[in-house]
Amino acid sequence: MLVFYPRFIRTFDDLPGYVSLLIHCWSGCNMRCFGCHNASELIDAKPDGRHLTAAQVLERLREGHQLFDALLLSGGEFLMNDMTEIRSFLKRVKALFAGPIIVYTNGTFPRKMQCLLDEGLIDGVHLDMKLPYHCLDPVEDAEVYRAIIGIAPSRKYRQAMLESVEAVIRHDSKVSQIRTVRYPLLSEEYFEHIRLYVNELNIRHGSTVPYYLNPYYPPQPANA
Ligand code: SF4
Repeated sequence: MLVFYPRFIRTFDDLPGYVSLLIHCWSGCNMRCFGCHNASELIDAKPDGRHLTAAQVLERLREGHQLFDALLLSGGEFLMNDMTEIRSFLKRVKALFAGPIIVYTNGTFPRKMQCLLDEGLIDGVHLDMKLPYHCLDPVEDAEVYRAIIGIAPSRKYRQAMLESVEAVIRHDSKVSQIRTVRYPLLSEEYFEHIRLYVNELNIRHGSTVPYYLNPYYPPQPANA
């Protein structure tokens, strides 16, 4: 069952030119990234009765949809959820909200992501390319992977993340982004490799998906 965190966030920065509503699905994550802001509330903590169901989220959207003009669906990892439930939810969102719907993902579910784009159930993707996966071997560079994404991926897993990056660029939505957090553990060279990779894919597909290198903000303690 789709379960959501009850706090919705209005944001002016995540999608330039739009007032966006950011909603977090409370479904956990298959990574454990350095400095993840959602770790304690959405990954370690399981839904505890404060959560909202899909029907409750739809009700809130129905009441307040004039207060934002884009909808951002995050997690944890939103695409870990069951596709039938994701589809059903997005169809109902589309029926009441005409603005762009964007999914945030770490790129590990390329097929689900592609299906949602092909079916027009989402308008774009903000994909976190956290490392230059194309340059880092899952075995030889396992330590780097563990330090940043908290796991050492298999080759198949790494391939999935690269497939997702290419799929987002090939789709070429004006509301999609590839982005990286400027993790303090990494030297500038890592970010430059990602930037060049995104640039090359944009050239290959005749696309213009922007790349953002975002500042790192350490998570604040819960009582700060
Ligand atoms: S992919 Fe996102 S939600 Fe998951 S651990 Fe990494 S930063 Fe946190």
